[in-house]
Amino acid sequence: MICLSENKKIKLISTGGTIACVPTEQGLAPGLSALEMLRIIEADTDSIDCLDLFSMDSSNIQPEEWQIIANEILRSINTKEYAGIVVTHGTDTMAYTASILSFMLRGTDIPIVITGAQLPIINEDSDGRINLYDSIIAAQGLKAGVYICFGGDVILGCRAVKTRTVSYYAFESINLPKIAEIKNRQIIFISEYTLKSNGETPISDAINPNVALIKLIPGMSADFIKCSLSCNLLGVVVEGFGLGGVHNIRRDHNEALEFLMKNGVCVVLTSQCLYETSALDVYAVSRRLLNAGAISAHDMTTEAAVTKLMWALGATSPLPTEQRIEKVNEIFSTNFCGEITL
Ligand code: ASP
Repeated sequence: MICLSENKKIKLISTGGTIACVPTEQGLAPGLSALEMLRIIEADTDSIDCLDLFSMDSSNIQPEEWQIIANEILRSINTKEYAGIVVTHGTDTMAYTASILSFMLRGTDIPIVITGAQLPIINEDSDGRINLYDSIIAAQGLKAGVYICFGGDVILGCRAVKTRTVSYYAFESINLPKIAEIKNRQIIFISEYTLKSNGETPISDAINPNVALIKLIPGMSADFIKCSLSCNLLGVVVEGFGLGGVHNIRRDHNEALEFLMKNGVCVVLTSQCLYETSALDVYAVSRRLLNAGAISAHDMTTEAAVTKLMWALGATSPLPTEQRIEKVNEIFSTNFCGEITL
């Protein structure tokens, strides 16, 4: 049984996902409560407060749910009763939720640990049992911040990407060493990383979901990019080739993206490569974009770039276009929670 140290209560918030799934006639669907999951791992339920927020497949978790999760976490933090908070969540969009919560909950003073599983916790060989167990331990001993704890690894939330569909080691920490491992109920710290922000840009916690992610493919029509404008988008993240290259012959992506920017859309360029950085100033194919005002995502994950853009636009969309674009640029050149190496 996990027994928590005195005065160190944990809050467990369940949102669904495979970890909570039970078989139904339609296939697996989340059905277990937080308390039922704790009982399966024989945790000390007296020192863990449970809240069942949703019972959702994470493919359905969207900005509306992020707001609800963030508000619930803030409410729990404000009670000052908890050493840490564990959130169970489906793995499919967990990296997006971890990233947006990292922005929305920056500066909070306790650890928030998100976990889930590749197999329902009711299965005897489910990874959910050890993941939930490890996360409760992590929530008692990590520094303040938002993390994913999965497969024995603790990853900074805004650096996590789901890289495997079925393996137990489903998440990787991209461009930053993992923070810790959980071994034999102990937290083994790996990286000295401290959560420091290089800016205190005042920003609201609104989210503007009018953002799209465009993954370029050779031959993609420039008109397809321009169509974003008719969808009322305020921002696009473009996954370009390598350092952030785009077509500049035949189908001119430079011209299409400039068209978007001239019409008030913020354009963030990132790479289709999982590791390392984007840089728009190296090759002629994309330097023009930099001069036109495109923002480089540098070494951010795509999940962090997308959610940072929604968060930045949430704070700035009431502003006139020019001021909004300037402010979004400023936000992207600021490290808020370890999401970017500048
Ligand atoms: N479809 C599930 C979800 O993301 C997968 C999982 O939890 O692993 O909710």
